[in-house]
Amino acid sequence: MRLKVDRVQFYYEARKVLDEISFEAGEGEFIGLIGPNGSGKTTLLKIIDGILRPKVGSVYLDCKRISELDPKELARELAIVPQTADLSFDLKVFDVVMMGRYPYLRKLSLEREIDEEKVRFWMKLTNTLHLAERSIKEISGGERQRVLIARALAQEPRILLLDEPTSNLDVCYQIEIMNLLKELVEKLGLTIICAIHDLNLAARYSDKIILINGGRIKGIGRPIEVLTKENLRDVFKIEAKMEYDQDSKSLTIIPIKTIGQELEERRSILSKALERG
Ligand code: ADP
Repeated sequence: MRLKVDRVQFYYEARKVLDEISFEAGEGEFIGLIGPNGSGKTTLLKIIDGILRPKVGSVYLDCKRISELDPKELARELAIVPQTADLSFDLKVFDVVMMGRYPYLRKLSLEREIDEEKVRFWMKLTNTLHLAERSIKEISGGERQRVLIARALAQEPRILLLDEPTSNLDVCYQIEIMNLLKELVEKLGLTIICAIHDLNLAARYSDKIILINGGRIKGIGRPIEVLTKENLRDVFKIEAKMEYDQDSKSLTIIPIKTIGQELEERRSILSKALERG
């Protein structure tokens, strides 16, 4: 087993935001991490990447605690595509992607050439090479998201963590990036853990889904086992129609309406306000 998250608990000050999180991720596995806003997805990704330390429990990489690996060693194993990155400095896009090579950089110029070649390769695959000379501050949100994915891929990790990688992308790039990630999983044996809002994208691309709610795992398994009407009702407060296509083995989720007390209350506040004009 490549990655093991073992009974992790995490607190922001006194507030517990992750509780008893345990799961394993193997080589060539695409794991979709889903859950409502504030359920703990970003925090969990940061713990796996070693940015945050669990209060209780551990994360293991090939049976070794990640806290025992030195930063360069860890960066060759694990890369993260954050939801927001502090890119306020005025760097060229090429240099931002080159940052992904930091765990490999040495002083010899020949090696620098190899690194530049690798950066160009990953930029080509993420369709960002044409942005190479532009400033990172002056490109669109979707372009920046692709650049961050290129930077993480340039790191050539065995485990790639992504936090909502498609949220700023138009539908064409959403599919293109997801297809690229899936191909890397299938052909290179990359392990991916990807927090994702879009339930249909999660269903389509994930081998395994982890459904998290209130900091606890509510379901774990194949998309069809986890994305059930009951779970969507309990966790996302939606009534949904589910269609499963036997031939393509794909699940489509069509949200029909929202349910739940709080949403009802908000709706009634709105309609009263509209009545009053
Ligand atoms: P998700 O990614 O599922 O939206 P997060 O992991 O971002 O959830 O947040 C989990 C919980 O932790 C939320 O209640 C959020 O408000 C809280 N939280 C996130 N970051 C911080 C922080 N830096 N300090 C305090 N609370 C935080």
